[in-house]
Formats: sequence, structure tokens, C-alpha cells
Amino acid sequence: MKWYQMDTDQVEQKLYVSTKRGLSAKQVDERLKQYGTNRLESEKNASKWLIFLKQFQDFMVLVLLAATLVAGLLGEYVDAIAIMVIVLVNGFLGYFQEQKAEKSLAKLKEMSSPVAHVLRDGKWEKVPSQEVVVGDVVRVNSGDRVPADIRIIQSNSLETEESALTGESLPVQKHEASITKDNLDAQDQVNMSFMNTMVTRGSGVGIVVGTGMNTVMGQIASLMVKTEKTTTPLEHKLAELGKVLIGVALVLTALVVIVGVYQGHAVYNMFLAGVSLAVAAIPEGLPAIVTVALSLGVQRMIRKKAVVRKLSAVETLGCASVICSDKTGTMTENQMTVKEVFLNGKWLYVTGDGYDVNGGYFWKKDHVGRDFPNLEPMLLYGMLCNHASLFVKKGKYVVDGDPTDGALLVAARKLGLKPQLHDNYRIIKEFPFDSERKRMSVVIEDENKMRFLITKGAPEVLMPRSTYIMNEDGRKLMKSEDEKQLDGAIDSMADKALRTLAIGMKPLSRHDSLESATLEKELTFIGLYGMMDPPRKDVKKAIAECRDAGIKSVMITGDHEKTARAIAKQLDLLPENGMVLDGSQLNQMSVAELEDIIDQVYVFARVTPEHKLKIVNAFQEKGHIVAMTGDGVNDAPAIKASDIGISMGESGTDVTKEASSLVLMDDNFATIKSAIIEGRNIYENIRKFIRYLLASNVGEILVMLFAMLLAMPLPLVPVQILWVNLVTDGLPAMALGLDQSEDDVMKRGPRNPKEGVFARELGFKIVSRGILIGTVTLVAFMLAFQSNPDNLVYAQTIAFTTLVMAQLIHVFDCRSEHSLFSRNPFENIYLLLAVLSSVLLLLVVIYWEVLQPVFHTTSLGIKDWLFIIAMSSVPSVFFGFTKK
Ligand code: ATP
Repeated sequence: MKWYQMDTDQVEQKLYVSTKRGLSAKQVDERLKQYGTNRLESEKNASKWLIFLKQFQDFMVLVLLAATLVAGLLGEYVDAIAIMVIVLVNGFLGYFQEQKAEKSLAKLKEMSSPVAHVLRDGKWEKVPSQEVVVGDVVRVNSGDRVPADIRIIQSNSLETEESALTGESLPVQKHEASITKDNLDAQDQVNMSFMNTMVTRGSGVGIVVGTGMNTVMGQIASLMVKTEKTTTPLEHKLAELGKVLIGVALVLTALVVIVGVYQGHAVYNMFLAGVSLAVAAIPEGLPAIVTVALSLGVQRMIRKKAVVRKLSAVETLGCASVICSDKTGTMTENQMTVKEVFLNGKWLYVTGDGYDVNGGYFWKKDHVGRDFPNLEPMLLYGMLCNHASLFVKKGKYVVDGDPTDGALLVAARKLGLKPQLHDNYRIIKEFPFDSERKRMSVVIEDENKMRFLITKGAPEVLMPRSTYIMNEDGRKLMKSEDEKQLDGAIDSMADKALRTLAIGMKPLSRHDSLESATLEKELTFIGLYGMMDPPRKDVKKAIAECRDAGIKSVMITGDHEKTARAIAKQLDLLPENGMVLDGSQLNQMSVAELEDIIDQVYVFARVTPEHKLKIVNAFQEKGHIVAMTGDGVNDAPAIKASDIGISMGESGTDVTKEASSLVLMDDNFATIKSAIIEGRNIYENIRKFIRYLLASNVGEILVMLFAMLLAMPLPLVPVQILWVNLVTDGLPAMALGLDQSEDDVMKRGPRNPKEGVFARELGFKIVSRGILIGTVTLVAFMLAFQSNPDNLVYAQTIAFTTLVMAQLIHVFDCRSEHSLFSRNPFENIYLLLAVLSSVLLLLVVIYWEVLQPVFHTTSLGIKDWLFIIAMSSVPSVFFGFTKK
């Protein structure tokens, strides 16, 4: 017998589970051990050996190794071994960098993996989907990915989209009833839902019957998603640039070799020097360092509660010029409390804060109770037409589910309505809430088998569907003066920044059809709730900081225009002349019309998820780089279309998380701002080390080229060149990737996404510093050689040390877009350590007698050092004063 042929009892028996309590912790443990985790086996990671060997596949490194071999064969053992060691160490460094990048990417993937709602030991809890086992009772809601193969035992208009499995993109309706037929394909098993398919509507409960590779998805190996490493735009630009740089470096080194040979240097010497120079000058480490900088930045973002799902988002974040953010939950706390009730034409005030159930109802300062006409039914209905649960955790009341629903549970408790009341009613049918419909309904049967419908939702949606209204004397026809009075009440609530919600009902007969289109009309309007959802504390400041940084914050909400306006005012988001548009106005506008005025709009109210796409498009047409948040399943298209799609880690659905490139772990708007600062900073840091590495390389090539043109001896020997490449280009460049942001990073406007690698004078800075570094090294060499013409090693040591020191001083210059003197050099501890260790290694190769013959060095005196420091400071200090 197949799972879909069994009824619920049979499935329960077969899997030793009760649908009332779920599995026990012990059963879960045993099953996890027996069947393993609920995971599809993805590709194996590249072997460590391969990653290591990859470090040597670079063409010039291979040429260098070949040249070294020749040197070794010719008897130059010391040089050959030294070069080999340096190349090996370089390989190890590259390997570790790559490993680090891989690891942090893997960690990221883990962090954004989905969670499942399971019933265990009688309690609903959230667990990572990987820990779901066979027999688990799971609940799925619209927007979830189904965590495993499940047999549906309860469906509330549940629909799933199974295209990943069947290729059919139309959603399939799911039911509980068992099916007698045999040999059904997956798409016909309508009481089953399969791993990784998507819930597009409604909700449901099911029992897990297969996990991991034992699911239908697991069996279709060919469909398994392969993880591809995509390159970010900057990595792409750098790869392109890399090719040009290789060409330039090769031409220049060839020039050095040709001129050198022409001037009488030995061909062999010039060849080895040339190849070493090429290896040093080609910035082969650049892409790896960029990846490391990106992934280190990503880790810093995680500490600030922003998880990047696509590395490219890190770069785009720095270009963001508009943030479109949901109001509820992102700008506000998403903790709703009913503060006012409008009923029988009267205002009731509700005391108590948050989800705490202490509080009561007051009419004109008098405490009122269950005898207040219509109050008890209104609160009871709010409790029954509800999807949330209220429970105590660590001594505090918390809500599992929609906060709007949670607020209604708390409101009912304040009148003394106990949750046990639920047992007297049976829910026959549910039409779930979604942002499009802006309402939710249930059909209820009471103990006397009487049926009725309860609908709650946005007042503008409920009022046109209401024919009657309740007052103290009972039901009467809704007249235009009633509507006017309600409109006034809604406005009054909204002006106080309260979210408005209406509730109504309709008695049903047993023969009434249970379709929402025919049911949700001719309602009896009962009353209005006004709910408070306070703004998050740090959002106002974040909005102000974004404004300083040239980034506009826009509020998008399904709430009433006045509620939105009031909250926007509290947050200082809406300027005097700023516009508020609502959904109906948006409907009447084309994207082009919207584009014309969009720069003046700060708040979009009563919008549906479809409007979001229009808003994104209009901003983009205007040339903006748009960050857009979303949580519900219908937000996914807008999130995808935006430049930076942002989803909610706590309240978001799996669908939006998958479409997004950034997940806010705390759902907080202020976290977007932190991520933008980090995004800008990472990009600036990458610019810093590009500048550092390339200026150093220009310096290295020029000193050799100038010396050859001037018919001088070689100022640097091959091992020295390689040592410079390894030591000064390695650690300090990495440490620049960890640099703090400059104070003004959020005082500048957003970066132009089209700007090239050398934009904002970077090219000038590289060339000018490079020329000076090369020149001072050569001058130092010439002066040393003139003073002591018989001792070439001495002059070469001076040149080598000057070059290294000039680079190590220049690294501090690279920290700022302004000048060497504009930042405190002691801020970046990693950089200090990197520079110190480079100096230490320099001292070792200069003073340790064992290494002196290897590196062609000799000990230097104090005078030499004073001379070297003076020379090597020139490039950075000079430009520090000129501020260019
Ligand atoms: P955003 O998160 O984009 O700011 P929102 O939460 O403000 O959106 P929705 O959740 O779409 O907007 O809610 C819009 C309106 O629908 C609310 O003002 C309220 O009147 C009504 N509503 C909200 N939640 C529910 C619910 N659970 N049941 C019935 N109606 C609801």
C-alpha cells in the first residue's frame, strides 16, 4: 500500500507517531541516527590537493619554475632553491586564502538554509529542515518550501507549485482524503507534498514519509541543483583588467630583458630576472584577495545580522540610492497591541502593553466587561478567525504566528476569553489571509451544528462587503451615515498611527456553498480594532544617516494611508513636501507616469505586492539602484527585479529568502543601513589594495627598466624581487582588506555602479606613486653604488630595502582617499602587525648570515637606515602634502 492510499490512522500506525503530539525527542534522535539528515547529497567539494595544485597553474609561475630548474642544472643551487621555496610558500598562501573563502561561503549557505515547523512532544517548534525525520508532523504555510515528502493530513486551501518535480508550473490543490487508485504519478498524488516544492497558498499539516535521498526529489538525481560559483561584477572587471595587466607586465619585462642584454648583461641573468619580475608584476593574487576581502566583509556583516546570499550584493550595496522598505516588522517592531475598539458607534480604550494579557476595556473612563453589547462576540470572533497561538515562554507572553492575529488573542484574553473556548467550535473551512485579499475568513460550526462565517480584514475591504451593521439593538441595514461614521473612526485611528482592522460575520445554512467568492459578502459589520505597532528604536537614526549618505528611504505598506503617514512622520521619513501615494492611485498610473513623480514620493500605502514591482521599475527607470525588502510569497518578483533584494530572516518565507540577495536576521531596517556601510567599506578596501598592489608593481618594474636604460647593473636580483612579491604584497594587502571605513563613508553619495576600477583618480594615484617608488629606489641604488662602486651587493641591499620600505610606508597612504596624514596609522591593528612582520622578515634576510648569500644581501649600518627611511618616505609624504 502506498502512502497516498492510506488514511491518517494508518500512516500514524505505520510510523509510530500521534498527530496530536508528534514525535518524542528520543524518537527523533533515533531516527536521525538511523536514516541520517534530511539532505540531498550535492556535489563533492574539490579536493584539497587540487586546490593546492591550482596555485601553480599560472603560466608565468610555470616558466619561473622551469627557469629555476635550468638555474639548478647550471649549478646555481642557492638561487634555485630559494626561488623554489618562495614559489611554494606563495602557493601555500594562495591555498589558504582560497580555503578560507570556500569555508566562509559554505558557512553562509548553511546560515540561510530553511527551517521547518514541526510538532514534537506536543509543542510546535522550528528546527532546521535538515533535522526533520520520517514521522515528524510538520506544518507548512504559504511561502514555505516543503521540507520533506509529506502525506497531507490537513489542508486549508493548501496549494503547492511542483514545477521542480513535474515541470508543471500551475499550482496544485492539496487535500487530505486518501486515494484508492494505484500507480499514480507524483502530480496526481494530491494528498502528498514533496520535498523542495513550494507552498503558494494556504496552509497545511502533514506527516513526513520520506527524507533526504529517500524523497521523490532525491530520486531524480539529474534535477539536483548544482552549486555554481558566480563571479561578482568587480571580480569580472578585475579578471578583464588582469589580462591587460599581464600583457603590459610582459611587454615591460621583455623590454627590461632586451635593454639589459643590449647593455651587455648576460642573457641567462637577464632571463631569470625578467621572469621573476614578470611573476612579481603580474597581480595573480588579486582575484583571490578580492574574494577574501568580500568574504571577510560578509562575515563582518553577519555579526551585524545581515546575511549575504550572493557575493555580488556586497558590491551593489555600496551603490544603493533608494531603500524601499516594508513598514510592518522592518520599520516597526511587529508587535501589535489592540489599543482601541470602535463598536456600536462608541469608542472603547484598551489598556496593557505588548502581548501581556493584563489589561481591560474602558468606555469614558469606566471599566466595561462582557456585558458591554457585542464586545464578547467581537472578541470571540477575532479569536476564532485566527491563525496564531499565544503562550508563555520564560515568563513572558509570546505569539507564534501573525502578530495581527496575536494581538486579537491578547485582546480576547483581556476580556477573560479562555483559549479552551476553541473546543466548542469546529473550523470547517478557512480562506487564509494574504496581502492581495487583505482579509481572512473561516466557516465555523458551533456545538448546536449552527454554521456561520467570520471575516476580518482591512476596513475598506470589509465595508463594501457588508450589508448590515451591528449596534446595541442588534443587526440593522448599513446606511450611508453608518459608513460615514466608520470612515471617521478609521481616520481617527489611523491619525494616531494605529493599524485598522475590521471584523464581520454572516450566519450560514448547511446548504450554503463554501466558495469564498459567494460567501464573503452580505456580511454584518461588527466593529473596528485599532492596533498599535511602535516604530523600532534605531530606525529613525538609520533613516537620517541614509539621507546623509545620499540614500532615500521609502516606506511601503499594506496599511491605511493615514496610519502610514503618521508612522512616517514619527520616523522623520516624510519631508514637508513629500508625497504619499496609495494603491488605488498607483493602479491608475503607468510606470512612466509614476517615474515622473517618484522622486517626490516617500510613502506607498495600501499597496499589494504587485505594486512593489511597479515601484521598483519606476525607480530603476529613473536611474536608481534599488534595495527592496519583502517577506511574503508574492513579494518574490519585486525582490528579484530589484538590484538588492532583501528578505526577512525571522518572519520571511523561504520563497522570498531564495529570491533575495541579503537576509536580515533581525528583520530590522537599521540592519540594512549597517550592511550598506559595510558594502561601501568593502569596496573602498578593495580599491585600497588594488592601489597598493599595482603601485608597488609599477615601482618594481620601473626601477629595473630605468636601471637598464641607464646602463646600470641590476638593482635587484631575482630572489629579492620574488621576496618583495611574497612579503610586501602578501600580508599588508590582506590587512588593507580588513581596514575600518573612513569617517566620511556615509557622508558621500552612493557610488556609480558603472564606474571603472580606476575611477575617482585611482589610476593617477597608482601611476604617480609607482613612478616615485621606482625613482627613489633607483636613486638610492645609484647613490649607494657611486659611494661604493666595488660593492654591488651593498647597493642592491640598499635598493631592495628602500623598495620594501617605500611600499610599507605607502600602504598607510592607501588607507585614505585624501592623504597619508588624514588617518590615524595605529587604527588598523592587522595592518600594523602585517607591516611589523614584513619589517622583521626584511631584517632577517639582511642580517642573518645564513640567508645573506641566498638573498644577495649585506648588513646595513645606522646611517644607511637613516638614508633609506628618508628616501622611502618621499613618495607617500610628497603626495600627503599635495593631497592629490
Ligand atoms: P508590510 O509588511 O508591507 O508593511 P503590512 O503588514 O502593513 O505590509 P499587510 O500585512 O498586507 O500589510 O496588511 C494590510 C491590511 O490587511 C492591514 O492593514 C489589515 O487591515 C489587514 N490584515 C493584516 N493582517 C491581517 C490578518 N492576519 N487577517 C486579516 N486581515 C489582516
